[in-house]
Amino acid sequence: MLDWQDRQPFSRRFGDVYFSRDSGLAEKRHVFLQGNRLAERFASLSSADGFTIGETGFGTGLNFLCTWQLFDEVAPFKGSLDFFSVEKYPLDERDLTDALALWPALHRYADDLTRRWRRRIPGWNRWSFAGGRIRLTLVISDVAEALSEIPGVIDAWFFDGFSPARNPEMWTQAVFESVVQASRPGATFATYTCAGWVRRGLEQAGFQVSKSPGFGRKREMLRGCLRNSPPMQPTQPIRSAPITAIVIGGGVAGCAAASALAMRGVSVTLIELAPALAATASGNPRGILHTRLSAGMNPLHRFVLASYGHALALLDEKLPIDGIARDECGELQLAFSTEEARRIDKLAALGWPPHVLRRVDAAEASSLAGIELAHGGLWFPAGGWLVPPQLCGALAANPAIVRRTGHRVESLVAVDAGWRVEGEDQHEQAWSCEAQAVVVCTGYQVKPFAPMASLPLTPVRGQITMVPATPQSENLRTIVCAGGYLAPSAAGLHVMGATHGFNDESVELRASDHVENLSRLAEMSPALAKAMNIDSLNIAQLGGRASVRASVPGAMPLVGELLPGLYTSLGHGTRGLITAGLSGESIAAAVCGQLPPLPSAVVSALAPARKLTRRK
Ligand code: SAM
Repeated sequence: MLDWQDRQPFSRRFGDVYFSRDSGLAEKRHVFLQGNRLAERFASLSSADGFTIGETGFGTGLNFLCTWQLFDEVAPFKGSLDFFSVEKYPLDERDLTDALALWPALHRYADDLTRRWRRRIPGWNRWSFAGGRIRLTLVISDVAEALSEIPGVIDAWFFDGFSPARNPEMWTQAVFESVVQASRPGATFATYTCAGWVRRGLEQAGFQVSKSPGFGRKREMLRGCLRNSPPMQPTQPIRSAPITAIVIGGGVAGCAAASALAMRGVSVTLIELAPALAATASGNPRGILHTRLSAGMNPLHRFVLASYGHALALLDEKLPIDGIARDECGELQLAFSTEEARRIDKLAALGWPPHVLRRVDAAEASSLAGIELAHGGLWFPAGGWLVPPQLCGALAANPAIVRRTGHRVESLVAVDAGWRVEGEDQHEQAWSCEAQAVVVCTGYQVKPFAPMASLPLTPVRGQITMVPATPQSENLRTIVCAGGYLAPSAAGLHVMGATHGFNDESVELRASDHVENLSRLAEMSPALAKAMNIDSLNIAQLGGRASVRASVPGAMPLVGELLPGLYTSLGHGTRGLITAGLSGESIAAAVCGQLPPLPSAVVSALAPARKLTRRK
């Protein structure tokens, strides 16, 4: 759908240009940056303030990059920028790279964006750049839907759809009404068009609109601010960001929450009962990125999908692919039962970008896997495995995070300035510490914490099995899932998993669980089961690990604020490697009063308080 005319990107679908042929960059700066007086507003932010921009039409990302550059040049060092944009027809990687190559002045910013681009997924994408100073929330969907799902946090708007005559759905009254709902008092807008019905629509929705000189050959453009608010004043964050936070639990959920807070300049104390981080459910020697999606676009599906995209981007930043701590070998989800085949068919029929997932038959699945498989299914090219304790270490490696391992938390007490956490250290000495915000990430172990003792968290024991590789099994190149999963060999061992023992808190290794894991192999590949001699393995000698995860009825984790200043990231079940990162990001954004990384419906569906009220 993208054409090149005079070496400039042009949309065949809309018959319009992405930016002015004279000088796209100068046009964007004139219309959107100057039109919203961003240089002055960025410069007048006080030290740790945030600023939030909303854009309709991400296109090539040129607006995003030149806004980022301006923010870099004039905003205070500790300030941060949220950039929200919506795009229904994202460019492919090649077109994005070519389009941005036109602007050498933005080269270093463009590189970061184009590297991240392959992680885009339908729906909500949240990516951090520049060590967390810049956050991009890119919603790949229709504008009307996306704008109706954000709270009132936007300080300045860029209306950059194609021309209103060619692209009317970007300029409807419903869009303008949602824009006003999503604005903070004092919000401004700018747009290159001065079409009469756009002006009238914006006025009707609540903006005070004026014309100002347009760029190049365009005589006029529109700009304005919300009525009944001081014109062009810098706006204040909804709530001021806390300076301190305590995160309880040093697994992947806790480390991710600590990392997201620390990246926002919050001083974090990370408390863990065990002598080291990642000692319990996040302690397996290998874990897989397994994204099980359903065909309905319900909140759980939307959350898991957004979490998957976020996890891949976060991993690229914190745990680059090296074949030792992490590998991106792809994952095959096999249609091994009628029920599973039905789920897979329904899901595949939704139409996915092939870099996210695609349907494959048994022959193609076998060729991707490098071994003969009994079924086709879904291929997730970005699936893979990682070493969870290494991820926890990488997330917690931030100078703003102080680790306190070997510390038991016994109680949480609300105090004037936030919460006090009290307990004992490894020498049985009493200790306590206070912070404005506390995030509880202790899996199913919440009984000691009075405000959350009644949350419906069920312990689920899971055991993995380490199986020695054989010359044939060494050919396996991808993760294969069919009920359980089998990962390619590393250091001569395959990991297979995992069992589900509800209400079972024991972590001893059980031969029966090894047998259960091995039995799945026959469903994936009878050829491999034979080659690996699973019938003659000495079960008692197999390695493995058992740990206990926490699950919530309905599988939606408990992520968000439970009481003022008290947050939870709990109940991630078997999906923690996928969902912990975005949950941490969501909590950190809420703690700091910033744009959430998820649509309002998903934020509400995650809210932990939903489970407290129901049980009363
Ligand atoms: N801001 C962009 C830049 O800096 O490169 C240019 C945006 S271009 C003029 C308009 C964009 O709006 C296109 O990328 C187009 O695909 C997108 N668009 C058109 N209709 C849309 C819709 N209904 N919902 C969301 N995006 C839409």
